[in-house]
Amino acid sequence: MILERHEFSSDNVAPICQEALAALQEANARYAASYGEDRWTARACDRVQEIFETDCDVYFVFTGTAANALALAQLCKSFQSVICHQNSHIQTDECGAPEFFTGGSKLLLVGGADGKLEVGQVKELLARHNELHSHKPEVISISQATEFGTVYRNDEIATIAHLAREHQLFFHMDGARFANAIASLNCAPKAITWEAGIDVLCFGGTKNGAAAGELVIFFNKEISRKFDYRTKQAGQLGSKMRFLAAQWLGLLTGDAWLRNAQHANDAARRLADGLRKEAEIERVFPVEANAVFVPMDERVASGLYARGWRFYKFIGPNVYRLMCSWATTEKDISDFVADVASISLNK
Ligand SMILES: *Cc1c(COP(=O)(O)O)cnc(C)c1O
Repeated sequence: MILERHEFSSDNVAPICQEALAALQEANARYAASYGEDRWTARACDRVQEIFETDCDVYFVFTGTAANALALAQLCKSFQSVICHQNSHIQTDECGAPEFFTGGSKLLLVGGADGKLEVGQVKELLARHNELHSHKPEVISISQATEFGTVYRNDEIATIAHLAREHQLFFHMDGARFANAIASLNCAPKAITWEAGIDVLCFGGTKNGAAAGELVIFFNKEISRKFDYRTKQAGQLGSKMRFLAAQWLGLLTGDAWLRNAQHANDAARRLADGLRKEAEIERVFPVEANAVFVPMDERVASGLYARGWRFYKFIGPNVYRLMCSWATTEKDISDFVADVASISLNK
């Protein structure tokens, strides 16, 4: 595959990876039953259970927003609430889908450095909770990896899980970049999910190399009852589900999902190193997954845009996000770093 120059805008600007594409082609060679009654769907669910080493319930949806919103709607009644980070995707990037699909639940926002919930603030929020007169906290949600490219360590997840159990809250994980977190921590998927107390994981395939397709995985089977009806009502029950499932088989059979994630993480680390050494630009957050956040002058950013690079301004007045993917090459990184250095250092 010959790609033009890499874009750092997001990991979803990357093409479909070879493994997912080959699996799509293989699934495209014949007729098959619809609405998930096919063998690709069955095999993909088996493979998810193998990878997580448990008997979990697996559902396929088209977007991460649908995965999060429907999972939260399954956990949370309209008069209940979800505790999450103020910069979480469910708060900032889902157009109110969690509030809409829950029919009125509120997101209760908490701060914390590096995109991670600060446990002290969660405790304060729970203590402040005004019974009967405000939404009752029912779920704690974290993103793994976080929106700032950091990764919760096992012990940090265990601490939040402990708090969730103490207050009888469900624990939801937005894993749009779960693969990057696993590659980063180099641990068994179960270690930071059901073993650690996660009830529901939204596991992203799109940013990992699929065309589309996210999993909603219930480790607590009691709460997945009738979830198939919820996905259908939301227009998320694919009639040709086999093509979502086939891509997952492509990613999960063997270890393409982990290789893709590792590749993206390594690219981000090299990008951050290059920018530090060659352009004297320090990353804002620790680079633990596939994102690098850097401060840059307006002048440097517009110079880079003029040279054809694409990326977003993210937080604060001058912080930009550079996202790497399975498709980022050495040359993408060295060309970008060279352009940053030439624009920023030749003032
Ligand atoms: C990309 C992303 C999602 C899913 O977004 P969609 O565009 O709806 O697929 C969810 N959570 C996080 C943290 C993300 O980065």
